[in-house]
Amino acid sequence: MSDGDKLQAQTLAVRAGQVRSQFNEHAEALYLTSSFVFENAAQAAARFSGDEAGNVYSRFTNPTVSVFQERLAALEGAEACVATASGMSAILSLVMALCSKGDHIVASSGVFGATQQLLGGIMPRFGIDSSFVGQSELAEWAAAIRPETKLLFVETPSNPLTAIADIAALAELAHAHGALLVVDNCFCTPILQQPLMLGADLVVHSATKYLDGQGRVLGGAVVGPKALVDEVYKFLRTAGPSLSPFNAWVLQKGLETLAIRMQAQSAGALELARWLEAQPRVERVYYPGLPSHPQHELAMRQQRSGGAVVSFEVCGGRSEAWTVVDHCRLLSITANLGDVKTTLTHPATTTHGRLSAEQRAAAGIGEGLLRVAVGLEAVVDLQNDLARGLALI
Ligand SMILES: *Cc1c(COP(=O)(O)O)cnc(C)c1O
Repeated sequence: MSDGDKLQAQTLAVRAGQVRSQFNEHAEALYLTSSFVFENAAQAAARFSGDEAGNVYSRFTNPTVSVFQERLAALEGAEACVATASGMSAILSLVMALCSKGDHIVASSGVFGATQQLLGGIMPRFGIDSSFVGQSELAEWAAAIRPETKLLFVETPSNPLTAIADIAALAELAHAHGALLVVDNCFCTPILQQPLMLGADLVVHSATKYLDGQGRVLGGAVVGPKALVDEVYKFLRTAGPSLSPFNAWVLQKGLETLAIRMQAQSAGALELARWLEAQPRVERVYYPGLPSHPQHELAMRQQRSGGAVVSFEVCGGRSEAWTVVDHCRLLSITANLGDVKTTLTHPATTTHGRLSAEQRAAAGIGEGLLRVAVGLEAVVDLQNDLARGLALI
């Protein structure tokens, strides 16, 4: 985006990156094509050699995908963005592009389950090791850094306990050791938090969540300075987890409403969190927008709101938590989040079900913990839905 950074996020979300075709369509076109035609042999040769810019094949570039990439880069205040088939393929591509055998990664122990499995379970087979540290414990991050540490990887707020990591402090730590800070910005989106502006080097997204916003498609992205994003792109165009043009088109439509959705969903989450805190059968509420959150001040400094995810502990354990889940008629029992439809999850028996009881206890995932990813329904309807089960425990 050339002069886009002068515009506000709401404007960029509906305007950035649009290129009109010969038909001068108002809405963004969908280029559902795997390859592109050349004028003549010389142009084909020039496109393949890279002497002439332009589309060749949709594993490399596609005009619909390009609009999504430009729009997301503009929203994150970044030079460049490369879109991927899913959030996990964004993280895989980033690690494969920037790390080599012998390199080391420090990540927070609260990162998304598949990220933990990729970094801790799969990458070591290729000689890339990871250490996992407490999300908010700067001293643990510092102690885990080795001479061969290439990346610090953090997701903030964490899922499901909403622990906050200090992005600016981690960026400083990474840079003092010649490493890069990567932030998974899935929970906040650039509307609520811009990690690159706080000193992070790269942002990764699962576009599957809030960027789409309606639970329709998988997608991901790596966003940051052109030199680093180009490295990821070179891996991606060869290895192949590129974003489908159809999904890119759906995601463009998602970005158009991202700002108003994030504002409305986080306002709803704050209202629900306050209500939960007043319920006698609720033991504890985890929400960065509440003054009772241990890192409320840091959250309010680095985020524009508390976000749309609220977790809470009911009095009792698994059976009480399941009573609340099983008496909901409106909230969807699903592990997904970022949807306009509110979702409800019991982490101990779903997303964190494969951990041992000791690992779960160490991670703070209690049997009575529930996670709500607040959507766009009226908050009073969500309250009534949760109140039905809460009254029975
Ligand atoms: C869902 C998620 C991912 C993985 O994204 P997919 O699109 O499912 O591959 C990564 N990070 C976070 C924080 C997520 O919530």
